[in-house]
Amino acid sequence: MPGTPKILIVDDQPANLLVMKGLLEEVNAELVTAASGHEALALMLKHEFALVLLDVQMPDMDGFETAALMRGIKQTRHLPIIFVTAISKDDEHIFRGYDAGAIDYLFKPVNPVILRSKVEIFLKINRQQRLLEKKTAELDQKVEELLILKSQMEEVNQQLEELSRTDSLTGLANRRQFKEVLASEWRRALRNNHSLALIMADIDAFKSFNDTYGHLVGDECLQKIALALHSPLMRASDLAARFGGEEFVILLPGTDLEGGAFIAEAIRRDVENLAITHAGSDTGGLVTMSFGVTAVKPSVELVDLNLVCTADKALYIAKKEGKNRCVAVPFEEDRDCVASSEP
Ligand code: GH3
Ligand code: MG
Ligand code: MG
Repeated sequence: MPGTPKILIVDDQPANLLVMKGLLEEVNAELVTAASGHEALALMLKHEFALVLLDVQMPDMDGFETAALMRGIKQTRHLPIIFVTAISKDDEHIFRGYDAGAIDYLFKPVNPVILRSKVEIFLKINRQQRLLEKKTAELDQKVEELLILKSQMEEVNQQLEELSRTDSLTGLANRRQFKEVLASEWRRALRNNHSLALIMADIDAFKSFNDTYGHLVGDECLQKIALALHSPLMRASDLAARFGGEEFVILLPGTDLEGGAFIAEAIRRDVENLAITHAGSDTGGLVTMSFGVTAVKPSVELVDLNLVCTADKALYIAKKEGKNRCVAVPFEEDRDCVASSEP
């Protein structure tokens, strides 16, 4: 009968066992009997009992010895015991040594009403205990599920955060990420008194490329160019980002104007070497890019976004001078330009 509590009755006298069984017939529990302390201990290890009715006077091993052994075994340590004994002052003394909550006693001859009421109390405690264990297990399960959900949510949030900082077409950093990195690199360069270079690059005659080959081929071209923006000459702290449309920026911490121009020229050649056919090109039949470069040692009175504005001006000169080239100009302060560089 799963769910029905079990009671172990231990007594060396078969007649007593029969009497106790008879008295507990009405109780909703499975009754198991043992004729000795040894047999009782063996049964306790096999079954899960709600209560033990333990005769104190038994040959070989008496009830107290049996209880002492039970306290030494993990499985039976907290099993409630009702000692069944003849009244004795000595017994009362011994009872005090046991854990009060799980111990009670009955005197022979057993009063049926008291027996049943005591047994019912222990069974009720046992029911509540099992219910509590079930609820605790359910709660543990829920906590585990919630923890899994939490880690999944953190993963999704991280992916979302990553997406919000990445350009979906090229996989490069987007303008948002670029601005964050520019601000932090600006502060770092300020602290270390280092120079910070910025390259702004724009595909030449890209409108005509789209018009000739279609927007999808245009997208593929942007992806190839994005790969070429990672020059082997660049460092781990350098950042290439899509600034918008067919415009890209490359931030080079710890680099001066000369170094920035050198990297820009290397990338210009790499793009040309991609040899992407462009029939409508005004620079010689292949896809090319123009580059504006600037660099500065930041100081507290300067504004980081002026780096973008100056590089943009240099790019404009490169376009005007015939495209497919790099133009490097020193950093310029221009407050109007900062406002217009916001997306
Ligand atoms: P210039 O040499 O002066 O830079 O001329 P341009 O044609 O490259 O410049 P313009 O600003 O006139 O045109 C930019 C073109 O880039 C127009 C637009 O359709 C294209 N473009 C911008 N973003 C994307 C994109 O995500 N995919 C594709 N396929 N084309 C894009
Ligand atoms: Mg262009
Ligand atoms: Mg453009």
